[in-house]
Amino acid sequence: MHVLDPGMLDGALASCATKTEGRDDSALIASISRNLREQDAVLVAHYYTDPAIQRLADSTGGCVADSLEMARFGASHRAQKLVVAGVRFMGETAKILSPAKTIVMPSLEATCSLDLGCPSDAFSAFCDAHPGRTVVVYANTSAAVKARADWVVTSSIALELVAELHARGEKILWAPDRHLGRYIQSQTGADMLLWDSACIVHDEFRAKSLSAMRLAYPEAAILAHPESPAAVLALADAIGSTSQLIDACRQLPHERFIVATDRGIFHKMKQAAPDKELLIAPTGGDGATCRACGSCPWMRMNSLEALAQVFERNDCEIVLDEQVGIRASVPLRRMLDYAATRPRGNYRCRVG
Ligand code: SF4
Repeated sequence: MHVLDPGMLDGALASCATKTEGRDDSALIASISRNLREQDAVLVAHYYTDPAIQRLADSTGGCVADSLEMARFGASHRAQKLVVAGVRFMGETAKILSPAKTIVMPSLEATCSLDLGCPSDAFSAFCDAHPGRTVVVYANTSAAVKARADWVVTSSIALELVAELHARGEKILWAPDRHLGRYIQSQTGADMLLWDSACIVHDEFRAKSLSAMRLAYPEAAILAHPESPAAVLALADAIGSTSQLIDACRQLPHERFIVATDRGIFHKMKQAAPDKELLIAPTGGDGATCRACGSCPWMRMNSLEALAQVFERNDCEIVLDEQVGIRASVPLRRMLDYAATRPRGNYRCRVG
């Protein structure tokens, strides 16, 4: 298990205090919109970012999406500058796929525990120790880790791809999320050697308190992202990527959902199903002093203030080693080509 340096969390956790609710942000929003227009830039935001940023992306011709769609959108958009609101690996992915474009982010410190938990040198040694396996890495990794992979996947296509590789008789080396890896293994029966890392947000969801919540809300359906622990997934009525969970919220007949993923997704879920009630799944367990709140500290670094500053500052740009970028583009493009040949995947469901 790769343990995170607590110091790396400090800045991110401090940013949890950033709020835009109940305040007049119109001047900031006008300034960002004007700069996007004047600088031939487009805003590409993840579902987990603040609702104010998601609204801005939607209203300025940008996109709000999962990491697969963010990558597709950024690569195909004509804008020469992409403003990526998310975490660092998303900005790096944009740079790998569009090396000639300028990629800026509200904070280059906005990382991901999965990325931190999979250092490229240790991962490379792991691959060297297990030759003959097809290396499949989750998108939540650094460019250097991607450069070592045969395939990059997002949670929206990981199941299908691994099932296909398994059917071809390939053995998999999977990194970095152990929960997602185990879930895929359980669904496909593939021979998978798993790296041992986790998302600090999803890892906090607790099956015991989720069971208690289900008793309190027996009519609610539980929606879970597969980065959640297996015991949580065992209780879920639908399991899927962020886009697939939004689909589930819209399509399932339930009026109330308990959601085990970052609460930033509530913004799009509410748009998709305005009359439905959303509750965040419980975290931390009864004895915990911190209940984690279902909120990624690094995603919260994407404040409107930080977004406005990307047009003023010169330290917001993603810069990658060119050779690493070239190598990482191979499995990334393989992923995009693979995804382009398939219909949008559906969530796995236990209810009708
Ligand atoms: S929610 Fe988890 S997987 Fe997503 S960026 Fe945050 S730490 Fe990484």
